[in-house]
Amino acid sequence: MKRGILFVISAPSGTGKTTLLRRVMGRLEGLNFSVSHTTRAPRPGEQDGRDYHFIPREEFEVMIEGNRFVEWARVHDNLYGTATAGVVGQLAQGEDVILDIDVQGAAIIRESSELEGVHIFIAPPRLAILKERLKGRNTDSDETIELRLKNAVTEMASAPTYDYLIVNDDLDEAAEMLASIIIAERARCHRRPNGEPLQFEKA
Ligand code: ADP
Ligand code: 5GP
Repeated sequence: MKRGILFVISAPSGTGKTTLLRRVMGRLEGLNFSVSHTTRAPRPGEQDGRDYHFIPREEFEVMIEGNRFVEWARVHDNLYGTATAGVVGQLAQGEDVILDIDVQGAAIIRESSELEGVHIFIAPPRLAILKERLKGRNTDSDETIELRLKNAVTEMASAPTYDYLIVNDDLDEAAEMLASIIIAERARCHRRPNGEPLQFEKA
């Protein structure tokens, strides 16, 4: 059976990754968003089980000790992780999976011998615009916004290690680019079922 494709997507917080992913997932079929576990508190409007599995730190630590994450990292003072169970099962069943994870998590996946992914980095056009977006989202305190902006500078340095880079300036254009990458990756020859070439009947 054909294996699913793992899309690993990273972006500094506030770049517009969630907005872009919602658009593209509303347009392309067969993309499964991997819901991460986090110790962060839910933001207004976020739903447990849909946006994240919101769990206490002690529960997160038990999951680490039980080896239940394919990757996990401390990001902006909270813990975030991708549970192995869902991702590995969906890929084996031929379903495409999207991981929305930070640069540390993406590096762990890249180094893993078990999971091969298509790595996509989404960047803001400028730091000043990132600040505007974080403020405009109205979900984080000034202190949290400053921490996220500071971390954005180091995260941007990892962009060249990704397979693709999308600058999210115009939302429509960035969404088009993300959808195009996913469509093109699905069409790659080596992804054909069992790697078999197309067979044409003789005329
Ligand atoms: P992330 O998931 O990367 O943290 P969000 O998707 O929550 O970011 O976007 C942060 C804010 O920026 C939201 O208010 C969103 O509406 C806005 N936004 C996202 N993309 C764009 C864009 N291309 N132009 C203007 N505003 C945008
Ligand atoms: P936020 O708190 O804004 O939802 O996410 C903060 C950062 O954590 C984002 O960069 C997001 O991609 C990252 N993140 C979300 N889930 C995971 C995960 O499971 N693992 C890792 N390593 N990072 C994650």
